[in-house]
Amino acid sequence: MPLFTYTCPNCKETFDETRRIAERNDPANCPKCGLFAPRDSGAEIRGTHVSSGTAVWLSEAMGCQPEEVPEFRKAFPGSEYTDDGRLVCRGLKHRDAEIKRRGYVDYK
Ligand SMILES: [Zn+2]
Repeated sequence: MPLFTYTCPNCKETFDETRRIAERNDPANCPKCGLFAPRDSGAEIRGTHVSSGTAVWLSEAMGCQPEEVPEFRKAFPGSEYTDDGRLVCRGLKHRDAEIKRRGYVDYK
């Protein structure tokens, strides 16, 4: 069963639950305060890869602080950052290239 993300409207806790697809939009119990939390599809898109035609991955590991985005765009021309500081990768090959560019080591 797939994993879905929920965000509590009360304490803002974000958590994942395994659900049947048909039940994905049913609210889940917040593990912190017990209130019903609605599904957060925005968090799912941020946290995992999205595949709709071309796969786009958002890497938090290679990201930066939101205020550093303009600096990082200059430091790595051609690299794409979201406004909140995540690196955009288009598939595994692109991700590997970005890792290499930065001199990072990939622990697989
Ligand atoms: Zn809560």
